[in-house]
This record gives sequence, structure tokens and C-alpha cells, in this order.
Amino acid sequence: MSVEHIIELKGIKKRFEDNFEAVKDFDLQVKKGEFVTFLGPSGCGKTTTLRMIAGFDIPTEGQILLNGEDISKLPPNKRPINTVFQRYALFPHLNIFDNIAFGLKLKTKNVTYKNAAGETVTRQEKLTKEEIRAKVSRALEIVDLEGFEKRSISTLSGGQQQRIAIARAIVNEPEILLLDEPLGALDLKMRKEMQLELMAMHKELGITFIYVTHDQEEALTMSDKVVVMSDGKIQQIGTPEEIYNEPHTVFVADFIGESNIYTGHMCGIREVDFCGAKFACLDDLPVGAKVDVIVRPEDVIMTAPEDGTITGVVQSVIFKGMHYEIIVESGDNEVVIQSTRSAKEGDTIGMCLEPDGIHVILADTNQNIF
Ligand code: ATP
Repeated sequence: MSVEHIIELKGIKKRFEDNFEAVKDFDLQVKKGEFVTFLGPSGCGKTTTLRMIAGFDIPTEGQILLNGEDISKLPPNKRPINTVFQRYALFPHLNIFDNIAFGLKLKTKNVTYKNAAGETVTRQEKLTKEEIRAKVSRALEIVDLEGFEKRSISTLSGGQQQRIAIARAIVNEPEILLLDEPLGALDLKMRKEMQLELMAMHKELGITFIYVTHDQEEALTMSDKVVVMSDGKIQQIGTPEEIYNEPHTVFVADFIGESNIYTGHMCGIREVDFCGAKFACLDDLPVGAKVDVIVRPEDVIMTAPEDGTITGVVQSVIFKGMHYEIIVESGDNEVVIQSTRSAKEGDTIGMCLEPDGIHVILADTNQNIF
């Protein structure tokens, strides 16, 4: 393994006692300092995968390597990895200082000194009160709550409590921070604020973040790399742009953003049929192959009826703030269009598609060639 990968999951499977396989053939490489997000619907195995990285669950098969060393069976407290949970798991009877300092009081450091015989000796010592105070104060500064040491947990808002949970998780300088839906309990406004704060913290700390969410917008906003999962399996790994612009499976196209998805055939070289017309596409799949055709609503260009490759009748128009969502009936198909221009219900309109706005996936294998 190259040293640039801080963590690597190789052929990981997790089967629970009831024989249920929650994670299947999971392979992932994470670079030092990356912000990686596991994204997928409820029950797809995100938390189970995170728990195996943390050491709370042991893989049934496969290996987890940290800087090239197999840590699959190492207990959680021996891994340089901390976790922030959705429910903050703070100690309500301790003040903020003691909540954050809790782990540090148990921590030891190696101290080297010369003994009476002049020999160099190393021994383990607890951190001094001053060292602990300095580390807590620095952690509070990072989460933007300087001077909160003496406050009681019960006086904090949800967002502040989550920041304390993050301060506690970063205070002993882990190599990897795992975050399991950390913003799930916050209202939308606070979530958005905390997303930006977490991104800033990630940049400042320079440590690797592995983040779990089922919120696609959150994943696309925050991550360097997104791992889209369904049913215990990886559907696609890529940058937010790759995941959005080049979905590799119908599942990804459907789960991330909105998509028009149809079944069709390759009717020529780089040519696919869609709503009864032939369209040029970039995908070179065998002529005659049954395919799923994926078109993002914003890639459908609305034109005058005579200028469109296909036509349709407007069924409904919904104002969405930045754009209109226009639903059009075209033959037996429904086409969803996202446009900054509005249209009138009952009007006939034309529609055009550019080749790079059409994604084609082989229907039987659910595998595309981009
Ligand atoms: P959510 O977004 O709802 O938290 P998730 O993607 O994190 O979901 P997991 O919590 O990893 O999903 O669960 C994956 C599957 O494994 C689920 O079907 C769950 O019921 C099952 N599962 C999790 N833990 C256990 C367990 N200890 N024993 C048996 N099945 C389990």
C-alpha cells in the first residue's frame, strides 16, 4: 500500500449473528487529510462500516489497514481514531472543561530523561494540569467556543453541544475523525452553519474526516470524495462532481439529484432512442443493447415546438425559487424539465438534448461505459 493512504478497507464483509450481511465486499482507500463521506439510504450499512473502522465491530471477512498496518482486531482505544455521534454523548453532570478533558486525564506521554547513571530512560507520565488546560483551550478555540470551560452542558444549544462533542473528539489529536450523522439532530439553518464550520475545522486540523450522512446535499457540499452505498455495497466512489455528472448506476442517478430514467435501445453507433426519437450520446455501447437512459432535468432544453427533437404537452409547472420544474407528457413518457423560464399548462413545447446531457447504462448489467 502506498503511504499516501491513511486507511484502506480490503474485501470487508460484516455478517451479524442472525446471518444478515450488512456490508458486502467493501473496498476503499482514503488519502491522508481527505474528507470522505458515506452516503446512502437508511440501513445501507454506513454506520456498520464506520463502526468497523472505529473498532466497535469486527469485520467477518477482510482487512482494515491503518498506514499499512492491519488494525482489524485492534480495540477502539488503541486506534488513533475518534468518533462523533449524532447524539452527542456528553456527560451532563460534568462541566465543559471536564467533558473535553475526560480522555486527556487518562492519556500518558513518553518522557525521556537521564538517570543518575547518565543513561537515557523513557517512562510514561500523565499530562500535566497545564498541558491539559492548554489542549482544552485550543480545542474550544477550534470549535469557536473559547472561554466556555466552566459552563454546564445543560446551558448549551444543540449546535453548541455538538461543537463540544467535536472538541472532545479532536482534543487528543486523532489521525482520523469519524462523524456519524453529527448534524442530524439540528434544525436546517444550524445544519448549514455547522456544515461550513466542519469544513473549516477539517481544513484547519488537516486530519482525515470520514463522515456518514443520508443527506445528498450535505455529502456533495462537504466532501472531497463521496462513497455512495446501497444494500451494503458500494455503488460508486467519486468526487461530488463525478457522482453528480457521471452516475455509474441507475441507483446513483436516482438517489443523487433528480433524474429522468427511461428504458431504451442503442439504435446506432453512439445513438440512443428516447421518447420515440434518436439522440446522439457519448456512450459507445453495442448497437441493439437494451439500456437505461438517464437525463437530468436541467439538461432538457425547452424550445418552440418546431425547434424541438421531440415535443410534449405541459402537465404542470412548479415554481422552485431559483427555477421552474415543468412536467411534460411526451407520448407514453413523462419528462421533468428544470428551467429558469416558465411554461403554461396545456401548451405544446419542443425539447432538445445535448449528447453530454444523456447518460446511458447497459440495462441488464447496470453498468455503464463513460
Ligand atoms: P441509518 O442511516 O438508518 O443509520 P445505516 O446505513 O447506517 O442506516 P446500518 O446501521 O449500518 O445502516 O445498518 C445496516 C443493516 O444492518 C440494517 O439492516 C441493520 O438493521 C443491520 N444491523 C445493524 N446492526 C446490527 C446488529 N447488531 N445485528 C443485526 N443486524 C444489524
